[in-house]
Amino acid sequence: MAMLEIKNLSKSFGDLQVLRDINLCVEKGQVVVIIGPSGSGKSTMLRCVNLLEKPSGGEILYQGEDIMHLGKSVKNYRKRVGMVFQRFNLFGLHTVLENVMLAPVQLNKADKTQARERALDLLDKVGLKAKADVYPHTLSGGQQQRVAIARALAMDPEMLLFDEPTSALDPELVGDVLEVMKKLAGEGMTMLVVTHEMGFAREVADRVIFMDEGYVVEDGAPEVIFTNPKNERTRAFLSRVLHK
Ligand code: ADP
Ligand code: MG
Repeated sequence: MAMLEIKNLSKSFGDLQVLRDINLCVEKGQVVVIIGPSGSGKSTMLRCVNLLEKPSGGEILYQGEDIMHLGKSVKNYRKRVGMVFQRFNLFGLHTVLENVMLAPVQLNKADKTQARERALDLLDKVGLKAKADVYPHTLSGGQQQRVAIARALAMDPEMLLFDEPTSALDPELVGDVLEVMKKLAGEGMTMLVVTHEMGFAREVADRVIFMDEGYVVEDGAPEVIFTNPKNERTRAFLSRVLHK
């Protein structure tokens, strides 16, 4: 059984149809990267998976269960599937360490001492243990995003969704965030990643999905998508982004 299976998903905002008959699967341990032009529906698709938007049609199955009918286990689902956004939205009035500890202590009723130990381990993992006691505004965007990743990991998610995690960063800060994501991928984390970082897609993705105008236009291995795309629209998009 797939970890995540999206079947015939559609989504409209009023008259505007944003997602059209989307089908895609993510297997446990896979990294699936979604690429495509701005406005093609990538964020809306992730937001449907994260229950931030309600699909207009179709099904989203998580480990075989329809996420539209989870009832009381919605809360639990949200813990199992974490999300990292373009804008990191750290809590400004809390230190870096508190940002990572907060949800486990408040939502999971974790023991404070243990949550603190775990948060420090996670900050170490993203290379920011030394910043545990500072406030987020003193960090660079790239450091803040790595804290946001540590915060997502603190809930022990089974799967992580990333929506353009490096798009808001200065170019020199992108690499450190991608390194952390690469490390997670190497450890077997299941990841669905929207990104414009084609190098990351090429190197880390098990599959690359090209979306355009609300459709999944192409879905395949990175070596096929990047060197021999079948669809003319994929070809045109890649030649725009790769030869900039
Ligand atoms: P992408 O992430 O690929 O850039 P989005 O999923 O953000 O695309 O947006 C796809 C389309 O849906 C765009 O035309 C956008 O303006 C529209 N859209 C997204 N969210 C909303 C909303 N809440 N209300 C109305 N239109 C929306
Ligand atoms: Mg988007």
